[in-house]
Amino acid sequence: MSPPRPHFLVLTYPLQGHIAPALRLARRLLAVAPDVLVTFSTTEAAHQRLFPAKQEEEDLNGGGGRLEFIPFSDGTEGGYGGGSDVGAFNAYMASFHAAGPRSVGALVDALAARGRPVSRVVYTLMLPWAADVARGRGVPSALYWIQPVAVFAVYHHYFHGYAGAVAEHYRRGDPSFVVELPGLAPLAVGDLPTFLTESTDPANYFHAVFLTFRDLFDTLDREAPAATVLINSCQELEVGALAAVGPHDVLPIGPVLPAGDETSIFKQDDAKYMEWLDTKPASSVVYVSFGSLATMAREQLDELHLGLEEGRRPYLLVVRKDNKATLAEAEAEMGERLENGVVVEWCDQVRVLSHAAVGCFVTHCGWNSVAESVASGVPMVGVPKVSEQSMNARLVEREWRTGVRGRVDDGGVLRAAELRRCVEEVMGDGAAAAEVRRRAREWKRVAAEAMGNGGSSYCNLVAFVDGARSSN
Ligand code: UDP
Repeated sequence: MSPPRPHFLVLTYPLQGHIAPALRLARRLLAVAPDVLVTFSTTEAAHQRLFPAKQEEEDLNGGGGRLEFIPFSDGTEGGYGGGSDVGAFNAYMASFHAAGPRSVGALVDALAARGRPVSRVVYTLMLPWAADVARGRGVPSALYWIQPVAVFAVYHHYFHGYAGAVAEHYRRGDPSFVVELPGLAPLAVGDLPTFLTESTDPANYFHAVFLTFRDLFDTLDREAPAATVLINSCQELEVGALAAVGPHDVLPIGPVLPAGDETSIFKQDDAKYMEWLDTKPASSVVYVSFGSLATMAREQLDELHLGLEEGRRPYLLVVRKDNKATLAEAEAEMGERLENGVVVEWCDQVRVLSHAAVGCFVTHCGWNSVAESVASGVPMVGVPKVSEQSMNARLVEREWRTGVRGRVDDGGVLRAAELRRCVEEVMGDGAAAAEVRRRAREWKRVAAEAMGNGGSSYCNLVAFVDGARSSN
């Protein structure tokens, strides 16, 4: 009898920035080994948004059942509704952490009962309980860390002896105050993940996220002899940080890009913007997007619009529909003031970044956006706000030097003049800008090599799959 096929259960928290890399990993697992099976699971509400029509799900499944989508329950009817109410967010997280493990446990059992036993559980950041569910059933698990290795190392050290030092530095109120963590370059306290500074305060909106990260690192410590951590980055980008990750078995397997068109929890605008890009000269367009979560105050939108128009370069700007405070009022009037640009509610960002016309990405530096930009060879202007975005911006500006960072004013607004200055620093005629562009092209080559057959990320993922095969 042939041995069971390696079967990965990929679990993810229901945010676009988590679903996208998880889905890409799922497809990548299928691509690196023809015998692999994957079950992809996120919450019921996110599953509904990914597949509003059953047919779409079946089309995606395509490959003879090698990839199946089965949701788990977060204990709510419609998922988390968003908003600024801390109590509502805390209640959601409590429900997610209580119902999630029960539902995922039942899913693992059901898969085994129907002859599709899970050989590895792979889970993204916010589900530390997934490792316990797996362990309880004798199934090994791996964390899929969807941020850079350097950020993993910061979290690791914070939860291993440095929480007090960070808190003390943070309390001084000077964001430029330097923190030293083992094996890492000195970091300004203001560049640390905000979940480790602002969110340690129980009154902070994201305190539940801080607690979840704490649980996650406790969970990793319970894995013997070492936890397996897949990371959506490549070792060439993060040589120094890889030496600072503690005892864990860290495997960079990225940056993983989508294979072809990608499903998303956001409705895409019709792809006219791609035709518009086709009409623009190579490397001429400024692409501006702040990801799937951040919303913009009207003042920020106006400054962006002004800076982009004054810069006289063509631009593609994403203003999401759920940016409620501004879109409704901005839409009508901005239409008339768009001389050089196009505004969309959502685009296929990877396709946009791969288009030859795009010359620069003004980004909030969410890790997916940064990784996609690096993999596409597009220089960046970073405007980080929360979570690990400042760390990512720092890596772009100081380590890979493929971009610059926009300085916001005291109210956190990126002014038009600063935007223009930064765009010139990466798109302008000067030698420094040309050097930024050269490095961006170079890192694109390195990332592609890492992902190609025989490359470092490819080999790491193959080794992970082989590990699952041999212990089946
Ligand atoms: N994205 C997209 N179209 C858009 C804006 C964003 O496809 O118009 C995608 C982007 O490619 C990335 C994800 O949404 O994969 C955003 O993730 P990121 O980590 O950059 O930021 P987050 O949304 O989590 O803050």
